[in-house]
Amino acid sequence: MQVQRVWAVAPALAIAVSALLAPLGAALSPVHAAAKPVVANDARVAGDRERTRFIADLSKKVDVHVFALGNPYRVIVDAPDVSFQMPDGIGKEKRGLVTAYRYGLFAPGKARIVIDLAGPFLIDKVFVLEPRDDQPARLVVDLVPTDEKTFLAKLKETKPPQPEGAAPTVIPQAAARPADAKPVVVLDPGHGGVDPGTSSAAGITEKEVVLTFARTLKAKLEATGHYEVCLTRDEDTFLPLRERVEFAQKKGAGLFLSIHADYFPNKIDKATGATVYTLSEDASDEEARALAAKENFSDALAGIELPSDSDEVLANILIDLAQRETQNRSVVFARSIVGELASKGALHTKKLRSAGFRVLKAPDIPSVLLELGFLSNPDDEKRLTSEVWREKTAEAVAESIEAYFAKRLARNPS
Ligand SMILES: [Zn+2]
Repeated sequence: MQVQRVWAVAPALAIAVSALLAPLGAALSPVHAAAKPVVANDARVAGDRERTRFIADLSKKVDVHVFALGNPYRVIVDAPDVSFQMPDGIGKEKRGLVTAYRYGLFAPGKARIVIDLAGPFLIDKVFVLEPRDDQPARLVVDLVPTDEKTFLAKLKETKPPQPEGAAPTVIPQAAARPADAKPVVVLDPGHGGVDPGTSSAAGITEKEVVLTFARTLKAKLEATGHYEVCLTRDEDTFLPLRERVEFAQKKGAGLFLSIHADYFPNKIDKATGATVYTLSEDASDEEARALAAKENFSDALAGIELPSDSDEVLANILIDLAQRETQNRSVVFARSIVGELASKGALHTKKLRSAGFRVLKAPDIPSVLLELGFLSNPDDEKRLTSEVWREKTAEAVAESIEAYFAKRLARNPS
């Protein structure tokens, strides 16, 4: 039997590490595609800083692939087909080396658990126990602390070889569309799957709120008969930020709207209403900068290795000259949303904010990020989950999209 790596660092190259179980003498359970999905229905963390154990209860045994990531410190558990039916609110308790964990779909048919750690660590053991007596099948991951040097050496040792030469970033070609085709509007419900986004005290997650809103808005836009409308995701699955941008480029989008909901940890009851953001190299203000950092962290939360500083300057998003015109259009669209929402009294601030949001980086597509409201505010939470509010707000955003395209057509009649 081939022994595979526990410490692979590129999820794209992940291989199910059935072999992990072999040294422990456990029998392997082959995965049957036709079998019912495995259900994970509880999880907990035990132990202390010297040895921390993560345990997940499963309906039956499953093959897992477990690996480590640094910056920030994370353990990733991938399994082919697991349905999560966990109790609400778990994953937030700090214990031992573990500061939090989250779970969900990483891609269709691919489940993932991401465990956040407080410092450098080693994966000491990973095993999946068969159900026994009154105990369910269990996934067990044992973690022990180490120093930074050992951690990095271990990561490097097991990192799969990089392909020769850096792959150039290729902007996908938009499919050829007839000149009289309807403009394509891409709606991007933020987060999803293993990345829930922010959540309210009652456990309402951003990923649910924004998907429901995006579906409502899509229906309203389609009802005008003026647009082809596409969602970057239409289920509870994760999508990396770059793929959201590429999706819009492939579709030949005329407009890209990323939809989110914010959380304001400090002034809990004060912040309310929607805020509209565009891309900029320098953030308009500290709040916008912090928000962009939080939204850009989505990939890390889902267990994707972030590009190194040399690949991309993390703090500064550089906008080249070709993007200036797109930027101007983004601002026109953003003002249109602000105008419509202001007339409904639904805004947090009329001020247009901007920062280095990665998801707004398509060089040729006017792109805006809309934070619908604050899940930290109980009144906003009620609104964000209310159908009446959703209908009204989606109507206002649809009108702002109509206004934007009407202005564009008036300027460039063809
Ligand atoms: Zn968000």
